[in-house]
Amino acid sequence: MKFEKVEGMEKKYALITGGSRGIGRAVAERLAQDGYIVIINYKSNEQAAQEVLKTITDAGGQGELLPFDVSDPKAIQTALQQWEEQHQGEHIDVLVNNAGLRKDELMVFMEEASWNVVMDTNMQAFYQLTHHVLQRMVRARHGRIINMSSVSGVIGLAGQVNYSAAKGALIGATKALSKEVAARNITVNAVAPGFIKTDMTADLDEEELAKTIPAKRFGTPQEVANLVSFLVSDQADYITGQVICVAGGMV
Ligand code: NAP
Repeated sequence: MKFEKVEGMEKKYALITGGSRGIGRAVAERLAQDGYIVIINYKSNEQAAQEVLKTITDAGGQGELLPFDVSDPKAIQTALQQWEEQHQGEHIDVLVNNAGLRKDELMVFMEEASWNVVMDTNMQAFYQLTHHVLQRMVRARHGRIINMSSVSGVIGLAGQVNYSAAKGALIGATKALSKEVAARNITVNAVAPGFIKTDMTADLDEEELAKTIPAKRFGTPQEVANLVSFLVSDQADYITGQVICVAGGMV
């Protein structure tokens, strides 16, 4: 990987939660390639995060690590406040709410803990992060927010009542917020991947599931990152409040 210098691009920061693995990693690498200084968030796997940062800097891009648990409101506030103290006069122009997890269980067997952790990580984090970052976007009169939803949140999948609820809520939040901030040149869109080859789907029977997908294969994290790259670019200035599936025809 080698990054071309993006001439004339001002210094812009993009925060990608869960940017150390899977889809988040591909997004971080792609946005760094597009000229952003990427802020790579992760929870515990520091080695994976360091690898992403090294890949980016080796290729001529810029990035930094910002670990915190997105399901912990206090940890989010502390990390973002520290970042702001260290970056006086700068702000985050792109927020990709990507970190997520699934705890699949049929509703009749679902423990409250599974419900809570899925809601806290996939959905509650949206409030904490977006509420904080939005203040400066509004003042700057520019910003991009991408919410990583899922086909599960669009059509609902059996065994994922918690996950479908969290990802569906993100879609509602995307549409409502987009209307509040469009006049400030802030766009808010949801990306809804189908089955993408990452650690999150490593436990699934890929061969069997692929037969149910019109494209007959799982997608790659880069195919999701391509869409995020477009949506945060100036070319997508007039696209907001949308849910775009990257799902090989599943929806
Ligand atoms: P993944 O491979 O499991 O990677 C998850 C990433 O999120 C890691 O960087 C992980 O960091 C981070 N993370 C998890 N919990 C966190 C927390 N509490 N705080 C901070 N970071 C946390 O997942 P993925 O497949 O790339 O999925 C990324 C997003 O796409 C998720 O929102 C997922 O729901 C969504 N999605 C995925 C698929 C799919 O097929 N893969 C389909 C639809 C939607 P650590 O390693 O440090 O924990």
